[in-house]
Amino acid sequence: MLLHRLIYEAAGGVLVEGHHVHHTCGRRNCLNPAHLEQVSAAEHLELHGHQNEKKRSQTHCVRGHEFTPENTRIKLWKGNPNRECRTCNRDRLRFRRERVRQPVDLFPSVPAAEHNQLTL
Ligand SMILES: [Zn+2]
Ligand SMILES: [Zn+2]
Ligand SMILES: [Zn+2]
Repeated sequence: MLLHRLIYEAAGGVLVEGHHVHHTCGRRNCLNPAHLEQVSAAEHLELHGHQNEKKRSQTHCVRGHEFTPENTRIKLWKGNPNRECRTCNRDRLRFRRERVRQPVDLFPSVPAAEHNQLTL
């Protein structure tokens, strides 16, 4: 959670790249810096694992890419660590870029003469 991260840093903690701030008491709106500890993204996923047994046991993403350490990115989602498939992420980004490069023609041009006939 971004807020917890800010509190952690305000209390003098230095967050290492790729690490998350874990809130040990688990109460979402508790802002006690003494309850915050720094864990690696992978450890954080373990700590929250019991809350999401089904997702944890998934070895592949929804599109069938395997969750290997290289293919897995751990991101915080609503304060909880979540696995993301890098392959799918990359595909999504590429798709977005291609969409920008080739704008969709929403108004295919109708020859003026034909257009007049249609509106009559
Ligand atoms: Zn946590
Ligand atoms: Zn707390
Ligand atoms: Zn995938």
